Amino acid sequence: MTKEIFPDLYGAFFHAMSQIRSLNESAQKAFAILGDALRIGRVAVRFNVRRNVYSAVTKNLPPRLELYRSAHSFNQDVCKNFQFTMQDELIVEIAIYGDVYCEQWSVKQLSALAMIAETTFVFISRLRLADLARIHAMTDPLTGLDNAMSFASIGRQHCVLNNIGKYTAIQLNLKNFRLVNRRYGNVIGDQILRKYGAYLAGLMHTGDTAARIGGDEFVFLVRDDYAQELVKKLEKVSITALNTDAAEITVELHARMGVYEIPDDETDFGHVMEAVSNTLLAARTAGYTSVMDYSPQIINQLLKNKELQSFLPNALKNEEFIACYQPKVSLEDYSLIGCEALVRWQHDGKFIMPGDFIPILEEDGTVCQVDFYMLRRVCQDLNDWLSRGFNPPIVSVNFSKHHLSNPNFVEEIMDILEEYGIDPSYIEIELTETTNFHDFSRLKKSIAEMQAYGLTTSIDDFGTGYSSLNLLKDLSVDIIKIDRSFLSEDKTSYKRDQIVIRNIIQMAHELGIDIITEGVETCEQARLLRGINCMMAQGYLFDKPLPKEDFEDRMMIGQYPNPEE
Ligand code: C2E
Ligand code: CA
Ligand code: CA
Repeated sequence: MTKEIFPDLYGAFFHAMSQIRSLNESAQKAFAILGDALRIGRVAVRFNVRRNVYSAVTKNLPPRLELYRSAHSFNQDVCKNFQFTMQDELIVEIAIYGDVYCEQWSVKQLSALAMIAETTFVFISRLRLADLARIHAMTDPLTGLDNAMSFASIGRQHCVLNNIGKYTAIQLNLKNFRLVNRRYGNVIGDQILRKYGAYLAGLMHTGDTAARIGGDEFVFLVRDDYAQELVKKLEKVSITALNTDAAEITVELHARMGVYEIPDDETDFGHVMEAVSNTLLAARTAGYTSVMDYSPQIINQLLKNKELQSFLPNALKNEEFIACYQPKVSLEDYSLIGCEALVRWQHDGKFIMPGDFIPILEEDGTVCQVDFYMLRRVCQDLNDWLSRGFNPPIVSVNFSKHHLSNPNFVEEIMDILEEYGIDPSYIEIELTETTNFHDFSRLKKSIAEMQAYGLTTSIDDFGTGYSSLNLLKDLSVDIIKIDRSFLSEDKTSYKRDQIVIRNIIQMAHELGIDIITEGVETCEQARLLRGINCMMAQGYLFDKPLPKEDFEDRMMIGQYPNPEE
């Protein structure tokens, strides 16, 4: 029989088998072709995993499959078992049962069945390989969660099925995970991430999706009604891992999250991904909160800020930054005793004030480039003045806190001065108060280095931080600039402010520190400052920040009239 009719049937069977696209798809049609000729009642497959075999098959593929069941059911007692072993030692058992009319197979039929079983095995191997490749391509290998590609494909399916509106997208980034890796090493770092991934998977409900899309970045699609609760749970998670000596390490993982409750009319999953990742970015840059909810205003602001940051390289190249100089005046004799260089950005025919771009450039640290640019500008202007016979006073230049993490900060300042041949006694460096101890010790170190080179140092906005008194005690800075908020005429705080400021000034003097107050606008304020022994002032009472040429006129005179006369 095999000889006469089987070749045709076998060809048809082979063709039908080759049409199957996934392991889970039953091969019903293919076996039906042979059913009557070979009296097949049922075909079942079992995967039998030996130890040490990659277990993807047991985790992601069903361990048992029924490929075929005949309409006349099958005979439990007539069964032929075939066993094959895949390359990775996975054992595949194929059991072929006879149908109810079959009492025993002939020798010919048995040899045909062997051939059928072998063919089936070949197709199963092929499909398993394709399944493994697909699983591999859609899975994050470290955590076993979905990867970015899989997440996007699931999201697109939700969009097509029109139920994306029931979900909230959350993107999460672990704070300071870099430090975990640095402290415990990458192997333990990976172990912690794996456990964290397992914890996340455990929090998901049916239909939810959790994916790892980068080192310590995760993204979720969860049902709206559960989203807030999940966010709360994720803010802080404790993970315990074992180190190389099998000792337990517990780390607390704090998360930053962007949350986007997807509207019902959303059709573009690309937009969802963009909205949620921008919301997370906004949370990261805002600094004041760990969880940010999507809002079009926040995203607009973020995009504007990013745009502004992107203009910076060209702005530096095209020299769009300009220095204005605001005079500093002695309250003893109203002479010009110094000035502060303040940056202005001439962009697209508009003047942008520092308040509108310095904080944005602080976010990504690029402000440092502007500061060094300004120092160069000041050196050029000083050289110009010196060559034209002016007698310029000391010029102060603002430097952001960001510089403190640069170990070569002071060297870079000195290199610039050297390049322009400027004596350090012409330059004062204004730095702001810091809030944490680590920064404080770096501030202290930088100030000492600057002083050793002959630069003058000052602390800007004094009194706005929280550590003012310690700062006075521990920092041998040359000058303190008292913030203009101390001159506020708010009646409730006025008296107390006076007492504080008076005592700060006295203490500073005893410590050999000079004091200047900024933002002096009225004669009353100037009188008051004199009364409490602050003899230097800067403010609109004398001048606003002036363009270079106007400042030159002031230098020429070198003296202000007594504003009270
Ligand atoms: P700041 O260093 O505290 O500078 C003093 C600010 O107060 C200046 O604002 C100045 O124009 C303003 N001001 C001066 N006198 C008065 C007054 O009598 N009344 C009032 N209401 N305001 C007065 P400006 O030029 O807009 O600069 C704002 C801030 O931008 C500066 O505050 C500083 O923190 C930052 N900045 C300016 N230039 C630079 C720079 O080159 N580098 C860095 N890192 N920051 C800069
Ligand atoms: Ca300043
Ligand atoms: Ca200031």
